[in-house]
Amino acid sequence: MADLENPALKHFIAQIGTELVFAQVLIRRSDGNYHLRHVEDREQLAESLRELRLPEVRSWAQHTEAGAFRPLKSAPNLKRGWRLVVADAEGLGMALDAFYPGAIADWHAVRAGNPSVTDFREFTGRQSGMYRITAMLNDAQAGRVIEACCNRKFCLKQRLWTVAGLGADSVETKSLIPCLEPCAVFMEFARKAMRMEQQEKLRWDLAPDEVKTLEAVLKEGVNQTDASLREGDVGAANNPRRIQLVLEKLKPLLTLTNRDNDV
Ligand code: SF4
Repeated sequence: MADLENPALKHFIAQIGTELVFAQVLIRRSDGNYHLRHVEDREQLAESLRELRLPEVRSWAQHTEAGAFRPLKSAPNLKRGWRLVVADAEGLGMALDAFYPGAIADWHAVRAGNPSVTDFREFTGRQSGMYRITAMLNDAQAGRVIEACCNRKFCLKQRLWTVAGLGADSVETKSLIPCLEPCAVFMEFARKAMRMEQQEKLRWDLAPDEVKTLEAVLKEGVNQTDASLREGDVGAANNPRRIQLVLEKLKPLLTLTNRDNDV
């Protein structure tokens, strides 16, 4: 590693030990090589996995198992069934950059203690054009939008940026890959969420048990794996993040419902 010029990669490799899980990629060091595979294929025999070549990694990471495009490479839907062997640090760096673009540099910035984190207010406050509207979300609304969009179901990056009333993510619930500022998927979702906040509200009286039915249906819907559904299409009423946002809004009602049942 003496000739490795990339300090971020050099420090990352020093952390690997015999193995390390980086989001959904398991990295093992053995025989002087780096062996990579999907973390859920940890116990699979090597012969049962397709051997990827380094130039294939980027296209492998482009689509989900169901064939849907992955606009967010940190989404927890990396295809399984592959393995990759790289012989040196440069190869490892290229592979990880193909799976998770920019992740090693961001990881290193956090480890070095100088990450450039931009919180929600600062980030949305400097938007112009179509995303200016996102700054109109109040703190509670922004908190719900963040909880929905950056939910572990949809993204494994550890969100370090915040808004008043909502803390950062932990490594344990997400991964070693930090998120330093709102991404394009988030901004598109936040724009749609603000547009929905501006709509005239409808009123609907629900019995506590009906609230629970609604919750059950929404929870089922949020886990859908319909290949025709584009993750980034926030205009679709059944977009999983939109369903999660409704679930976030339902939380106070569910708390009330459960409390009434406890009485
Ligand atoms: S803003 Fe949220 S969804 Fe986007 S990369 Fe960061 S944590 Fe993930």
